[in-house]
Amino acid sequence: MDIVKEKNIKVSIKTFGCQMNEYDTELASGLLMKQGYQMTSDETEADVAILNTCSVREHAETRVFGRLSRLCFEKSKFGRNVVVGVMGCMSENYKGELFERYPQLDFIVGTRNVKDVPRIVKQVISDKKRVMLLEEEGLGIEFSEFTQRKHAYHAWVPIMTGCDKVCTFCIVPKTRGAEISKPSKDVIEEVTRLRDRGYKSITLLGQNVNSYGKEFADGVGFPQLLERLAQIDGIEMVSFTTSHPSDAIPELFEVIRDNPAITRRFHLPLQSGSDPILKKMKRHHNMDQYLEKVEQLRSTVPGVDITTDIIVGFPGETEEDYQATKEALQKIEFDGAYIYKYSARPGTPAAENFEDDVALSDKKRRNSELLDIQDWISQKKNQNRIGSTHKVLVERKNSRGEGEVVGRTWIDKKIVFPGTEAVGDICEVKIQKLVNDTFFGVKV
Ligand code: SF4
Repeated sequence: MDIVKEKNIKVSIKTFGCQMNEYDTELASGLLMKQGYQMTSDETEADVAILNTCSVREHAETRVFGRLSRLCFEKSKFGRNVVVGVMGCMSENYKGELFERYPQLDFIVGTRNVKDVPRIVKQVISDKKRVMLLEEEGLGIEFSEFTQRKHAYHAWVPIMTGCDKVCTFCIVPKTRGAEISKPSKDVIEEVTRLRDRGYKSITLLGQNVNSYGKEFADGVGFPQLLERLAQIDGIEMVSFTTSHPSDAIPELFEVIRDNPAITRRFHLPLQSGSDPILKKMKRHHNMDQYLEKVEQLRSTVPGVDITTDIIVGFPGETEEDYQATKEALQKIEFDGAYIYKYSARPGTPAAENFEDDVALSDKKRRNSELLDIQDWISQKKNQNRIGSTHKVLVERKNSRGEGEVVGRTWIDKKIVFPGTEAVGDICEVKIQKLVNDTFFGVKV
């Protein structure tokens, strides 16, 4: 008798962190449902509660530890009969240490073993033993045909895992391993399948998508793959994240210019505006080279929307280094920026080699000052968009406005306008006003 089907086992997966984790949760959910498990978003009713974890910053891990403590407390103090498991980056970052810290934790699954989650859950339930599976090999994102996608019109499409860059502040190379690209034939088949199922919008995922396919001899690098996907009939909107400045090449910018399906939103992490700090971060480029890339991108793709990541308070960051970052933000005028205070990640070269010597008060001051500057720039740029017309993909009906729909522009802006279009429909909308970060407009 199949233990799973017999017991109608409910499984919850709480997702922390990035889009890659969101996809891994969708894949694990689809594979679990294929085995007869029921997915639930209510962790309190789950027979199996899985946390899909993130290690990118201390704060992210603290949230997971809090949740894990509570789940394990419910088991030890109240005898709750629930299987508790961890997947995602903390599995790789802490490995068996999680078992020592949480005696009620039942399994640990690595970032390359998402496809093995159903097998591990079944093993824990039938053998009543703890299991840890952390494999270095393999892509870990096979079986995409079973992915239980959250949205009906948009799909995350990982094209690779891991990262071969070793930025000194970053935990990803440790938790996601070396770069492995998915063969272009498989990616194209996956996107064609999605198109056949009515998907109109896809986002290609990778820690550094620009180095896609370098292990293959078929000449299909990221620009070539992106072009082929953008030319699949029925796929209307193609986005991608994340790029590395030293691998973002003019050929890629030309492919974006020449293919209307590709969105004009380009995420290009800068991290710091100071050359000595960029060197210490091992970013493989200096500020002039970064400015040159921005200039090439803006001249090749008019109206492109550039966003970035910034870290303040990196070890050794002087007031002068910080001023260089502030000037870079004011000079480049990004459309958006994710700005974080440096937090030492155990297991990274920076944590092992550099003292975290910037005072927290300086980190906080620099962080909030840059956030204010970027807010002002983003507001100014958004205000300048009022009166302009944009192609929009409809995402849903507006829950707060009768007879209104909500859509996304090709520069990844949310817009609300009167209409009865269906999800996935595309129309031209003229922006009339801006309320916080949401545009309001009318069809033209
Ligand atoms: S390129 Fe990105 S993912 Fe890779 S090590 Fe650097 S910051 Fe981390």
